[in-house]
Amino acid sequence: MKSHNLLFLAKVAILAVVYFSMARLGLLLSFVLGNNTLVWPPTGIALAALLLFGSHLWPGIALGAFLASVSTGVPLAVACGVSAGNTLEALIAVFLLRRVVRFQNALERLQDVFGLLGLAAGLSTMVSATIDVTSFCLGGTAPWDAYGLLWRIWWLGGAMSNLVVAPLILTWSSRLGGSRNLWRIAEAGALLASLVLVCLLVFGGWSRVALIHSPLDYAVFPFIIWAALRFSQREVITATFAVSAIALWGTAHGFGPFVRGTVPERLTLLYTFMSVTATTALVLAAIVTARKRMEEALRVARDDLEARVQERTAELSTSNTALQAEVTAREQAERALQHERDLLEVTLVSIGEAVIATDATAALTFLNPVAETLTGWPAREALGRNIAEIFHVIDEQTRQVVENPVEKALREGKGVGVANHTVLVARDDRETPVADSGAPIRDKSGQVQGAVMVFRDITESKHAEAALIQAKEVAEAADRTKSEFLATMSHELRTPLYVILGYTDVFLDGGVGSLSAEQVDILQRIDRNARVLFELISMLLDLNRLEAGRLPVEATEVRVADLLAEVRAETQGLCDQSGLACVWRVEEPLPALYTDPGKLKVVIKNLISNAVKFTKEGGMRVRAQAQREGVAISVTDTGIGIPAEAQAFIFESFRQVDSSTTRPYSGSGLGLYIVKRLLELLGGTIVVESEVGRGSTFRVWVPTVRGVGTS
Ligand code: ADP
Repeated sequence: MKSHNLLFLAKVAILAVVYFSMARLGLLLSFVLGNNTLVWPPTGIALAALLLFGSHLWPGIALGAFLASVSTGVPLAVACGVSAGNTLEALIAVFLLRRVVRFQNALERLQDVFGLLGLAAGLSTMVSATIDVTSFCLGGTAPWDAYGLLWRIWWLGGAMSNLVVAPLILTWSSRLGGSRNLWRIAEAGALLASLVLVCLLVFGGWSRVALIHSPLDYAVFPFIIWAALRFSQREVITATFAVSAIALWGTAHGFGPFVRGTVPERLTLLYTFMSVTATTALVLAAIVTARKRMEEALRVARDDLEARVQERTAELSTSNTALQAEVTAREQAERALQHERDLLEVTLVSIGEAVIATDATAALTFLNPVAETLTGWPAREALGRNIAEIFHVIDEQTRQVVENPVEKALREGKGVGVANHTVLVARDDRETPVADSGAPIRDKSGQVQGAVMVFRDITESKHAEAALIQAKEVAEAADRTKSEFLATMSHELRTPLYVILGYTDVFLDGGVGSLSAEQVDILQRIDRNARVLFELISMLLDLNRLEAGRLPVEATEVRVADLLAEVRAETQGLCDQSGLACVWRVEEPLPALYTDPGKLKVVIKNLISNAVKFTKEGGMRVRAQAQREGVAISVTDTGIGIPAEAQAFIFESFRQVDSSTTRPYSGSGLGLYIVKRLLELLGGTIVVESEVGRGSTFRVWVPTVRGVGTS
């Protein structure tokens, strides 16, 4: 057999034994107390057992009831009827309680109390009374004429059991809350002791008053109410049970207020008292519990609310602090902004230039004192007006209206510069030459918010400019006079020199007879110095022409090899005289140049003459090669070299490395200056590389056609 079946059988058996024992106890008590059905605890036990452990244990009741009946000596059939009646009674009670009121064993709700009263105690016990009494009468164990009385006693006995015994078991079996401190236990003890004492006084025959059957039964109610108000269902039921037990015992022994009339009458009085007590106690306790629950729920809700209020208050205080901080920060920012604004305004007011600002519609928003003076408009009148009304500019020469820079800046969205020769016409028609500029004002997103214009009175600077122009014109006139003088002088100086050189040649060529060695030497000195003078004068003349712009470029097609051959021939004497090794290297193919051959020759000859002049020993080399879109011609010597710092100025006029009067080399300091200027005319370039004591290289580059390859 399965273990759960065994368990079931064990439970059934236990229930049967308990039922049987309680039935026997009831019978015994009835016997002792003198009436058959005065007490019937099994009904309440059966109901509590099925409610606690399940309806399927009904066979235990059936068996217990059957055996208890048989044990009283009734026929088997009657025992079967009684067993059926008692079993059905319990099953119906459980069924109705569960179905109708969804019964809970703790009996804390009013619906449970009323269910127990109406359905279990009132209704289900009628089934048992009917079946049991009918079985007795049918089986001949009781006479039919006692049916009504028996039925009533049977029914009341069962009802009392369900009202007093069943709740006692049920409440003591449920888990109940509530504190269990010493004071509570002491109070419970005091309650029970007082109650028992009162019961004994009223029902137990301890008082003389009670002995004469005065209706003192109501004396127990304060204690029942005390229990209901202060304790839970369990204590209330226990108190009720104690009252019922003592009342029952006292009545059975002829004490107390219910000992009057016949036994059934006494029973009716007693049962009525017991049921009123039990009902009052249960209902009151349920109401008090419901109230306590409500209070508890209210307390929880209040606590919750309080917690929420506190939480919200904290939140509010936090956000209030944050808000406060924000307000402070904003105030600070505003103060800083105001300070900046004030500073800006002070700056704009103190500035020497006139400043006008407008909004995006060109309406005036700001005008500083300088602008007020120049326009003739005081700020208080000008603000809000359109810029065109305030700032009226015309062209100095044409007298035409010039577009306002603010309008232009607003339209184009970018800064506009100064329009030349503009005159501001003030409100009183005063005219002031001005230089102005305007720019759009943008916000952080780049949106144009307005424009600002800065302008100033340029009367002074115009005067200064005019004075400068005049001075320049004077200087230019003086320069022209100087050039003319130089040209005349040079021309006049060259003519006698030609004569001197010509006659010297005649003498040296023996045209006037043979000369002594001393005479030849003197003549040669005259010749040399005359030539130096001639060259100097020629250079001065060239320079003069250059500066006067009277040295036009006469370009023709030039073959560099031919040109260099000519230069070589012309400088051959110089080279021979110096005793230097002169090397010429022309690296063909060279492109033909379209340039001024005369000027190019002057350039190269100048460089050669310098090379020879500043070289004691070693040699001089001229080299030509194609380079970029032109020809590169370099003149290299092994002479004294040029210090690095001097390389920067030797191309300036009248500049020499050694310009002292005791310098060993002749020269005017004009040669390289002229070379540079001539190359500029030809579109060429010149650079120098030199090292002191090792020699110098001048590199000239001439384009095939002026303007090419210069980059
Ligand atoms: P100068 O008539 O004095 O030669 P230049 O203008 O031709 O005038 O030259 C200016 C100066 O540059 C010279 O005085 C000299 O100091 C320096 N110089 C020019 N060419 C050479 C060179 N080949 N070697 C050394 N120094 C040179």
